[in-house]
Amino acid sequence: MTKVLYPGSFDPITKGHMNIISQASNLFDEVIISIQQNQKKTSYLSIQERLELINELYKNYDNIKVVIGELATVDTAMLYKCKAIIRGLRSLTDFEYEVMIQQINKDISNNEINTICLFADNKYQFISSSMVKELLYLNKDISKYVDPIIERKLIMKRGN
Ligand code: ADP
Repeated sequence: MTKVLYPGSFDPITKGHMNIISQASNLFDEVIISIQQNQKKTSYLSIQERLELINELYKNYDNIKVVIGELATVDTAMLYKCKAIIRGLRSLTDFEYEVMIQQINKDISNNEINTICLFADNKYQFISSSMVKELLYLNKDISKYVDPIIERKLIMKRGN
């Protein structure tokens, strides 16, 4: 049984993330989505809110689980017996960052944890959580970029 870890901030989870999750769940037996605490960025949704939303999205999927990643990503991967980390690539900037991080992750896990990069389908390639938040503040339609469950929560949290 091959399990993989998909770590990220998911603040909020977008249709880009969901497309990567769907591809990964077709390729591997189980996908563990790990919501990582990001020390550098202040978040819009709390960790608990993100956990509840992603759980709601995937409640009918036996092979997709959601956890909060409190450790280093490789340690979370090992904790849940994941063979690899999944990352999604959008741009050259993503690529340069991922090349560096995957090497560090290999080193600190003694070559136990590999990184597998997937590409979202064309129409989801450009979506980012920060773009969704920007549009939300501008009162623009975000329904193309996030699931209705996420859209409802974001609009409720915005307050109108
Ligand atoms: P992080 O803060 O770790 O970048 P994100 O939640 O922004 O977390 O993203 C998690 C992963 O999903 C990253 O590998 C990111 O590149 C990827 N990703 C995000 N949006 C997309 C998208 N639209 N298409 C493909 N991959 C994506």
